[in-house]
Amino acid sequence: MRRFENGSVRQVAENAWVVRGDPRLGDRYPNYVVRLRDGRYQCSCFETGWGLRRRGEVCTHIAAVILHREYSRLMQPIYAAVISMECEGDYYIEVLDKGVKAIRRVRALSSDLTKPRYRVTYVITSNEPRTVRIRYACGDETGETEVALSKVMRFVIELMKD
Ligand SMILES: [Zn+2]
Repeated sequence: MRRFENGSVRQVAENAWVVRGDPRLGDRYPNYVVRLRDGRYQCSCFETGWGLRRRGEVCTHIAAVILHREYSRLMQPIYAAVISMECEGDYYIEVLDKGVKAIRRVRALSSDLTKPRYRVTYVITSNEPRTVRIRYACGDETGETEVALSKVMRFVIELMKD
């Protein structure tokens, strides 16, 4: 965590990162190279004096790279729109365009089975800025509408997933 917070991780190739050494954390070298090969992380500290111990435990250079990668992914922009409607009885929602993802959440607002009420939340995402057409039904109302997806950080969408 400390390594990650200090911004000491730098990506240098698709599957390689340089982690700046920090003597306060027990590092004896100015830089460490972490590589991802065949789905496994390897760190240059494995080859140094403390390597055998570090290999057996968790190498914190690798841990910092994992945090850095996850953070970078979550901070990438994505384009999204949130549609929320409260419906009595039936509800239906469909995106008429291809190439977008949608997360649907439905919550029952009424426990009265003869008068069901739902809150339907629909999160539409795309990697590109765009406008999509939506067809919907909510109770007795049906229609089509256009929705523009606007830029948000990916973690906002991750938070809405469940
Ligand atoms: Zn290491």
